[in-house]
Amino acid sequence: LEIARRIEAVAFNNPTARVISHKIAKCARAENVWTGEDLHNEHGECYSATGTLWRCNERLCPNCLTAHSRRGRKRARTALETLTPTKSERLWFVTLTMPTVAAIDSPLLLTLSVTARAWRLFSQRSWWRQMVRAGVKGVEFTLGDERKRSESNRSWSADLDGYHVHLHLVILSPWLPSKTLREEWTECLKNAWDEVGITRGVNTRDGLAVCHIKAVTKHNFDGVLCEVAKYITKSESWLSIPESQLVEVASVTRWPRMFELLGECRGEASPKQRTIATIGRRGDGAVAVLDRIAALRSDGDVSDINLARQASAELYVLLELQPETRAAIETRTRYLDTPHVSAARDGPLLVRHRARSLRDVGIELLTAGRVAEWRELLTEKVSQVQDFRRAQLVRGFPFAKFTSLDGRSWPRRHATSRPLSATLPVDAGD
Ligand SMILES: [Zn+2]
Repeated sequence: LEIARRIEAVAFNNPTARVISHKIAKCARAENVWTGEDLHNEHGECYSATGTLWRCNERLCPNCLTAHSRRGRKRARTALETLTPTKSERLWFVTLTMPTVAAIDSPLLLTLSVTARAWRLFSQRSWWRQMVRAGVKGVEFTLGDERKRSESNRSWSADLDGYHVHLHLVILSPWLPSKTLREEWTECLKNAWDEVGITRGVNTRDGLAVCHIKAVTKHNFDGVLCEVAKYITKSESWLSIPESQLVEVASVTRWPRMFELLGECRGEASPKQRTIATIGRRGDGAVAVLDRIAALRSDGDVSDINLARQASAELYVLLELQPETRAAIETRTRYLDTPHVSAARDGPLLVRHRARSLRDVGIELLTAGRVAEWRELLTEKVSQVQDFRRAQLVRGFPFAKFTSLDGRSWPRRHATSRPLSATLPVDAGD
C-alpha cells in the first residue's frame, strides 16, 4: 500500500502511473486477501491456505510478485525435471550481469530494452545454440549496489546509481568455458549499447562483463530455482528511490519477459495443461471448447470475457467445465459453427475488436479527467472478480471456511445445516 501511496502522491500528471497505483492499492486491501481453514487436497489431507481474490498483476505489486515467482519456480521445476541429460551434459546455473549505468544516462525502460536486445543477440549465436539444448531464463533487477550506498550513507540517486539488470539461467549443456561465456556476452552487450548510443560500457579490469557459471546439484537445485524466478530482489527497495524515478518505474507498461523457457524446455506442456487441452478438444469434431473460449476472450464484450475467464478458471481448478458454463459458452459462440463469416453474431468476425485491459481503459479515463468514473469502474470490476473467486473457492473446497482480512467470512452457513460429511473426521488416523 505504501508503494501505491507514494506513486499516487507524485504522479499527478501521469495517468499510467496513477492507474497502476490504484490497482496496486486495490490488490493490497484487507478485503482482497483471504485465509482458508479445512481445505482438503485429493488425498483427503486437511490444510490451511491463504491467497488473493483479485490480482492486479502489476510488476510493482509485492502481493502479485510473490505469486508470480511461485508460478515461475513451478514452471522451471517441471520443465527441467523432464530433461534427460546425455553423458556430456548436465545442468548449469549461469548468471550474466551488466555494469550498472547511472539512471540519468540509462533510465529503466532503456536499461530493460538493452538487456532484452543483448539477450536476443546472445541466444541467437551459433556457439550458444550448439551448446545449449534446453533451459530456463529469469530476469532479475535491483537498484544497483546497496552496499556502496550504505557505506557512504546516502540514499539512491539517479546521478550515481542505476538499474542493475542481470539474467539467471539454468541450462542443459556440456561444460562451457567461462572465458568464452564472458566474451560472447560482453560482445552482445556492447552491440546492444552501441545501438542506443551508450559507449561507456564495461568497466571491469579485463574489459569483460561479469558472468558466473556453476554446476546445479541436488543440494542447490531449490535455491537455484528461487534465483531464476526472483525478478526483483526486494520489492520494498522501490520505496527508497526518489519520486521522479518512481513515477518512471511505475509507468513502464511493457516489461521484458521476466521468465522464459528455452529450447527443449519449451516443448513440453505441463501435465495439467495437457489435460486441459485434452478436455478442450473432446467432442464431436465441431469447434473445440478451448477455441470457443479463445473466441469469447478476443471478440466478446465484457460479459463474454467474464464467461471466458470463469471457464478457464474452472478448467484449471476443477479440470472440467460446470454444465451451465459449457452451455453458456456454446450458446454464445454458436456463430463459430456457422460456415459463413457474415453470419457472426454482431457483424463479420473481422470487425470485432479485442477487449481492452482494465489498465488501458483507466489510462483513457484519467487522461480525459474522468477520475470518479474510473474509480467506480475499478471498484466494480474488482468486486466482480472477488465475488467470482469466493464462489469458486467454495465450489473447490465445499467444507472449508474462508475469511478475508477485513473480517468477512464465507460461505455464510449455520453450523447445523452443514452437510454431515463436513463434521466427519477426514484423517483415517483420527
Ligand atoms: Zn497485485
